[in-house]
Amino acid sequence: MPHKLASYLSRRIPIDHGDGCFLYDEKGKEYLDCIAGWCVGSVGWKNEEIKKAIVAEAEYGRYVPAFLQFRGWEEFAELLIKISPNPKLARAIRCASGSEAVEFAIKCARAATGKQDIVSIDGVYHGHTYGAASVGDACHPSMGPCAPGFLKLPLPHPLRGPSESAVIAEFEKLVLNRKTIAAFLSEPVWTNAGAIAPSPSFYPAIERICRKNKILFIMDEVATGFGHCGTLFGSQLWGVKPDILCLGKAITGGYATLAATLITQSIYLRTFRMPSYVTFGWVPLDLAAARANVEIITRDRLWENAKNVGAYFLEKLQKFKDRPNIGDIRGVGLVLGIEIVKNKKNNAPHVVKALLLQNACTRRGLLLEIAGNTLFMTPSLIFTKELADRAVAILDSVL
Ligand code: PMP
Repeated sequence: MPHKLASYLSRRIPIDHGDGCFLYDEKGKEYLDCIAGWCVGSVGWKNEEIKKAIVAEAEYGRYVPAFLQFRGWEEFAELLIKISPNPKLARAIRCASGSEAVEFAIKCARAATGKQDIVSIDGVYHGHTYGAASVGDACHPSMGPCAPGFLKLPLPHPLRGPSESAVIAEFEKLVLNRKTIAAFLSEPVWTNAGAIAPSPSFYPAIERICRKNKILFIMDEVATGFGHCGTLFGSQLWGVKPDILCLGKAITGGYATLAATLITQSIYLRTFRMPSYVTFGWVPLDLAAARANVEIITRDRLWENAKNVGAYFLEKLQKFKDRPNIGDIRGVGLVLGIEIVKNKKNNAPHVVKALLLQNACTRRGLLLEIAGNTLFMTPSLIFTKELADRAVAILDSVL
């Protein structure tokens, strides 16, 4: 294979095709895909209904630029708004990636409030563009200066703290001392930090502080949206109502390049003059695939399967709890993590060990990812208990 791509960190598994919850490499080796593109896979690979929708759209032979109208855009926006976790969400911004969805959230929050600071949780990924990288953990020193106006609260890590109440108190203090905060932005479950779910009272407390101080509450559901947490949206786990919702990944199930930012009518009225033109925002071919995907998820209530199979999977994984180097086993729905530590006394992260375990799993035909020092799994929403048993058997031999 030539090596002309500027990508990095790719593992040497040349993928040929997919089928359901499996991927196959060029030599025909089968992999149980427990990552599904990192919260991307929803209805599984090689879905016939989506294939039909793509072929049907291809017959129309059209690309519609943003300065013309397209009924499909309105219908998809209506569908997203209808299923969204806050009845006040009323408008959808079309975009092509999760990073852009976060970028629009930041722009809208600033434009709607006239304030500049965005508060987020340290050590969480929110995308690669400057705003998204700066609100998240991806502004590498080599690309500095990072975008200004971003403040971080520490992540309430289950093994290494601080406590959630300390983080909430820090937010309260910050809000008291600074009148320039436009929004709080976070993932409802910190997928990228290693499948960490806060307790049920954490986000409602943060949301209350936001409401009291006229700070917008933004949920980045690029990874958690569309079922992986066992609810259609992660926000529903905590009963919070985001003013801005960032969507990506499983919105297409991996069949298209498309994302969205949902905003309330009042934010829309204060931001609609802001440029939001995206050349590849909801291209009809992408839209056909994404729409078919979202319709299958909602029709078959696939988040319920994620909840049931995820609970079963998590319970089976608990038997590894006492093994050496296992610091924590946690998850919500089909977002699962096994945290690898140096020893159980200090719970210090052991990234090298996690990588070795990941490689051993790959050799045995199980694909999972690494989030820091955590073995990370987010299989498709159609995952089954039998497949969970198969993954557990491979993990058993490796751990
Ligand atoms: N937000 C979250 C929570 C993500 O997990 C990601 C991607 N890992 C992004 C934003 C950025 O999405 P994209 O890669 O589509 O730009």
